[in-house]
Amino acid sequence: MTLESIKGLGPKNLKLLNKLGINTIEDLVSFYPFRYDVIKRSNLNELEDQDKIIIDGIVETIPSIFYFSRKRDKMTFKLNTGENIFNINIFNRGFLKSRLKVGTSITVIGKLDKKHNLIVVSDIKFGSILKTTIEPIYHTTYGIGINTIKKYINEGLKDFNTIDYIPSYLIDKYKFIDKENSIKIVHNPTDLKVLKNALNRLKYEELFLFMCKMNYLKNNDRNKVGLKRVVDKKEVDKFIESLPFKLTTDQLNSIEDIYTDLIEDYRMNRLLQGDVGSGKTIVSIVSMYINYLSGYQSALMAPTEVLATQHYQNIKNIFKDYNINVELLTGKTTTKEKNKIYKELKEGTIDIIVGTHALFTEKVDYKNLGLVITDEQHRFGVNQRANLKNKGITPDVLYMSATPIPRTYALTLYGDMEISNIKTLPSGKKDIITTVKKDNEIKDVLESMYIELKNNHQIYVIAPLVEESDKVDFTNVYELEEKMNKAFGKLYKVGVLHGKMTSSEKEEVMTKFKNNEIQILISTTVIEVGVDVKNATMIVIFDAYMFGLSSLHQLRGRVGRNDLQSYCILISNNETERLNILTQTNDGFKISEEDFKLRGSGDLFGVKQSGDMVFSVADLKRDYNILLKAKEDSMYFLENEIEKEDNKNILELIKNNFGLD
Ligand code: ADP
Ligand code: MG
Repeated sequence: MTLESIKGLGPKNLKLLNKLGINTIEDLVSFYPFRYDVIKRSNLNELEDQDKIIIDGIVETIPSIFYFSRKRDKMTFKLNTGENIFNINIFNRGFLKSRLKVGTSITVIGKLDKKHNLIVVSDIKFGSILKTTIEPIYHTTYGIGINTIKKYINEGLKDFNTIDYIPSYLIDKYKFIDKENSIKIVHNPTDLKVLKNALNRLKYEELFLFMCKMNYLKNNDRNKVGLKRVVDKKEVDKFIESLPFKLTTDQLNSIEDIYTDLIEDYRMNRLLQGDVGSGKTIVSIVSMYINYLSGYQSALMAPTEVLATQHYQNIKNIFKDYNINVELLTGKTTTKEKNKIYKELKEGTIDIIVGTHALFTEKVDYKNLGLVITDEQHRFGVNQRANLKNKGITPDVLYMSATPIPRTYALTLYGDMEISNIKTLPSGKKDIITTVKKDNEIKDVLESMYIELKNNHQIYVIAPLVEESDKVDFTNVYELEEKMNKAFGKLYKVGVLHGKMTSSEKEEVMTKFKNNEIQILISTTVIEVGVDVKNATMIVIFDAYMFGLSSLHQLRGRVGRNDLQSYCILISNNETERLNILTQTNDGFKISEEDFKLRGSGDLFGVKQSGDMVFSVADLKRDYNILLKAKEDSMYFLENEIEKEDNKNILELIKNNFGLD
């Protein structure tokens, strides 16, 4: 069965489903609800004024409608519940009137106003609820409603293929329901206990496969011998001495850790954690220098072009008096330039290559890559490093991340990965003063901005959207450009940066901002990671509630990059309590823990950006206990079971995932 063969599913909705990541019937049936609403008929005697009420009854009077405007209306009628006759108010559902004939059975969900014997209804369901119902709630996208998605899923459930990846001995051990039934149950649950079993089974499978992948890769790595280097420590110290600033103790300790890893013959697998602005980049540069001294090539991979370019310039600058060949390779490098770089990487004339994912495409072939560094590790999957084509050498690996992973999780996920921490910021740095402002306090915001501008400082302004959208009503970049030009355009220059611009356009704007030819840079979150302009002392973030705390903290880290006092203004009418956490602390570790508490693992691990950690039902935090079991089981499985004929499909899946053979 294909998506196209579903009754009533036309090309328009097909596109929308594709947008939700649904391309096959199998995708469709594994498009699981993200939560469930448990609906239970309320017991009237137990309800207080303003409580949520769910009750069924019969429409007693013909509804009457009052229109405020074309789109806004209020409908009123009376509902007979057998015990009582309630007044019903419901807004913006005038279109339901024709179905609400007198005598129709409905269930209303709303808020009880005891004094007026009134229910302000938020939702009406046709037919009555006799017992508890469990309603699956799905993510949607503009143009397609939950009910439509449900209808398609139920069509899909009639005929779909599924492969069960849990080995049979584990199915027996946990007495799991079979996969096909589990899938059916999660879409149409009738019993909470059964639902939980079905969900657990699907979560376990996801986490089991995930842990198998992680551990398989690790075992695969472990069997490879690392490089043993001979490096004159004095050369390294001399280099550190020559840097434009004195390194902090934590930076020096991290370098020491890395130095030891590099000169010993085991393979380095190290995570360098440090808050935004803690100075991880320079540690990576020293590491690359050590690697260079021992005669190997280094690759530094960044998640965005803007960041890769900045690293490239930074590194080139530091090595300007050295005979070290540094090049930049991104998706936007011209074909001619790319071919030249490929050739030079293969011949070994490039010592340090900086870039984006482009570094690890099929075509890139290194002569003797000895060190791979990924910046903002949480944005990448672990897959990339398996793609290295490298003349049989297994490089040492350093991951850098500003999003600290709580230690227990790091150990579970990465197992034997070593961790170096940079806890202190370079001296002289001040905490960023953060405030939360309402939309209607924009005048205050503009005044604060003006003060910074008058002091010859620069400002970032962040909007969630690039351009106006008919789907959502968030602030966009172009709207802000207009506003800022109106407020400051006479005296200061306003620039715009976003992901839809070409890389040369982006680079031009960034260079102008760096050179202070632009004072106000309006941007989307493309600016989020790592960008470093020291004279910027203020960041203003519109619709701040749209972002996770960790993302906001990262954004805030764009300022406060020298000893000037810096400011962050979060503009939001919503979720101010959550945002207030940022006004109280500048400690990224605390913030990520808060995020973790509030939102589950999603934001923490940068899911959606990192290929490995996108789960459709599991959540690393909520399902931590399942994860632990899955981890243990995966280790036994890889040790004793994976080679068995019955488990061939699992081995294949893992290998495909890493492009291994
Ligand atoms: P992050 O850890 O967020 O990647 P960066 O490496 O970009 O931080 O460093 C932030 C800023 O601090 C950079 O401008 C860098 O040059 C500067 N910096 C790094 N280490 C020191 C230090 N020891 N003393 C003074 N400034 C430093
Ligand atoms: Mg950085």
